[in-house]
Amino acid sequence: MKAIIQQPSLTQQSLTWQQALSEMVTSPLDLLSMVNLSPEDIPWQWDKDFPLRATKSFISRIQKGDPQDPLLKQVLSIKIESQLDNNFSEDPLEETKYNPLPGLLHKFPSRVLLTFTSSCAIHCRYCFRRHFPYQSNNVGRKGWTQVLDYIASHPEIVEVILSGGDPLMAQDDVIHEFLQKLSHIPHVQLLRIHTRLPVVVPQRITQSLLKILHDVRLQVVMVYHINHPNEIIKAITQGVHKLKQHGITVLNQSVLLAGVNDSTECLKTLSLDLFKAGIMPYYVNLLDTVQGASHFLVSKKKAKDLQQSLRENLPGYLVPKFVQEIPHRLSKTPIDILP
Ligand SMILES: *Cc1c(COP(=O)(O)O)cnc(C)c1O
Ligand code: SF4
Repeated sequence: MKAIIQQPSLTQQSLTWQQALSEMVTSPLDLLSMVNLSPEDIPWQWDKDFPLRATKSFISRIQKGDPQDPLLKQVLSIKIESQLDNNFSEDPLEETKYNPLPGLLHKFPSRVLLTFTSSCAIHCRYCFRRHFPYQSNNVGRKGWTQVLDYIASHPEIVEVILSGGDPLMAQDDVIHEFLQKLSHIPHVQLLRIHTRLPVVVPQRITQSLLKILHDVRLQVVMVYHINHPNEIIKAITQGVHKLKQHGITVLNQSVLLAGVNDSTECLKTLSLDLFKAGIMPYYVNLLDTVQGASHFLVSKKKAKDLQQSLRENLPGYLVPKFVQEIPHRLSKTPIDILP
């Protein structure tokens, strides 16, 4: 059965991004009814610790009446998540060792990653940070001075990556103020923003954000997070075009997810549709072994086959790098070199 994917209604698009966030859906029962499914169709569950979060715009891209929808699977908690799997841990990347200050990860020498906010506009079931103590481990305004001092005293850092949580959950004036301070550190050349917010709330690309990112001395790169072609709607493309007009590069990273995007056909369409939207495919990340996400795991063998088949079926520049995060390595690891 092929259902029609609805574009968000006009009223959805005319809301400010803050209003769109305030209308976020947090009840699985509401979500199921919005996509014309009954609670008996799926073994869903409540998850108190990492509850449902999805915007109405994202939900409007779910195909109605399809319990196997690839977007639905990314947001609806199902019972299998509660089965403990001993190969999956709560801190799969052992990141706490590279965490010299709250909210600052300095693992790869030339770049530092800041968890700039403690929240996201969507809760992705596979998220490797789902057990991360964000509330205590993010760079609040009080921590800025310390973080900026750290960056200033490490001349090897050329790029600062704002991550999260989702950094674009911060208000534009907060982002502006931080970038003003950051741009005073001469050895920092690049600013990267890892975000899913413009994907789930397209109106997040505001005029004031565009101006801030255009005016800052740093060269700006945005890395979106889109896993499936059905996530791409016209409003996203429009935002990307504005970013490009303001000199900002837009890349995409995906997570390889069983039952969501683990086929040549899907990944090929994703790369082509991203490119059509003005976004360059960058990474396909193999799933981190986080507790509660084992049902999304794709084997390394299958991932290698998929990458090879994309190489045969796409121009080289549209083939994302398939990588895995391996604890204690000083860069992401291309899966080709793994046993
Ligand atoms: C992924 C990641 C980066 C960025 O890596 P790139 O290969 O430059 O995209 C930086 N720091 C940490 C801790 C990361 O996990
Ligand atoms: S938006 Fe990113 S950080 Fe937030 S839950 Fe999803 S994958 Fe995790």
